[in-house]
Amino acid sequence: MPSCQPNLAAPRRSAATPSAGDTAPPRLRIAAPCCHQRPGKIARALPSWPTLAAFLQRRLGAALLICGILIAPAAQAWNAAGHRLCAYIAWQSLDLMTRQHVAVLLRLHPDHSRWLARARDADPDLAAFVEASTWADELRRDPRFHAEEEAPTALLPGFPDTLRHRDWHYVDRPLSGSRSGAATDGELPRQLERMIHIVGDRNADARRRAWALPWLIHLVADAHQPLHVGSRFDERGRSDDGGNALLVDNPFVARRHIGSLHRYWDELPGPPWLRGSTLVLAAQGIVAEHPPPAPAGRLKQWLDESLAVARDEAYPADKVEPPTITARFNERARRTAAQRVAWSGYRLAGLLQQGLRSHPDASRDDR
Ligand SMILES: [Zn+2]
Repeated sequence: MPSCQPNLAAPRRSAATPSAGDTAPPRLRIAAPCCHQRPGKIARALPSWPTLAAFLQRRLGAALLICGILIAPAAQAWNAAGHRLCAYIAWQSLDLMTRQHVAVLLRLHPDHSRWLARARDADPDLAAFVEASTWADELRRDPRFHAEEEAPTALLPGFPDTLRHRDWHYVDRPLSGSRSGAATDGELPRQLERMIHIVGDRNADARRRAWALPWLIHLVADAHQPLHVGSRFDERGRSDDGGNALLVDNPFVARRHIGSLHRYWDELPGPPWLRGSTLVLAAQGIVAEHPPPAPAGRLKQWLDESLAVARDEAYPADKVEPPTITARFNERARRTAAQRVAWSGYRLAGLLQQGLRSHPDASRDDR
């Protein structure tokens, strides 16, 4: 199998990564839950933290205890590399007029100045576009916003509501069986279609379009993440929430750890700090390996592709609990993830150019 670009494909080796010379048993740590857990569902799917160690002790037995278990710190930030890469690749594919239109809309977003403050790109329009790609995930930790089950926070200018909308990021579709492909949970397809409509609606309020645009940028990438679309269901019809409830042992990280399969896939595109020149290099590597698909297709095709990847590639075949990620599985998964990111970038650009083409006078939105 051909190798991917170095910063995307090469296993992140460390002293804890198995190699021919390794003799000491690796230390395992339990990664914190991924912040793409499904609202209200993961609590039943995974044991609570106080019981997780006991859960693993039961599952792994004495061998794991001999190796030693490190409990990772509290929840890490969502790995944003995939979203920034998607946005950067899309920006490179946009024509000048669409870039200008997108930039004008994003300047109307209430958080535009926040994006520029942390960006590392010289071009402020590109910087805002790339940073806007992770805004929908940042709502999960933003105290101005609240979860569905929490008390509402105060309404803010420029936002239609202050909900975090955690169920907009995924759709739960069974991998196989009589219900294969039928969504059971999650709003991703519906909300992405809605954002496409709002952004492209020249009669819509410009600030509403500015609010919808970061959602559109974000959800196109989510639609290409296989485990944001497919879930494994057991014989009692219970979903594993896109691999959130399946723990895997991943030796291909700096510190070997046991974490969810969903998190493993979320982190495949690169490290969460990927920005600036390293982001550019990574994007160039992906684009060189993965040209635009033909045809580009529409949302249904993107979701069907993600479901097929989830069914055929996303789950380790190892029946031991937790399964260990093998070198072969890791290589294939990294390459598939890079392709999904590249395609999401090309397709995001196509959507924006198609949706905004009928608005040649971008300045009319600057009001
Ligand atoms: Zn998301």
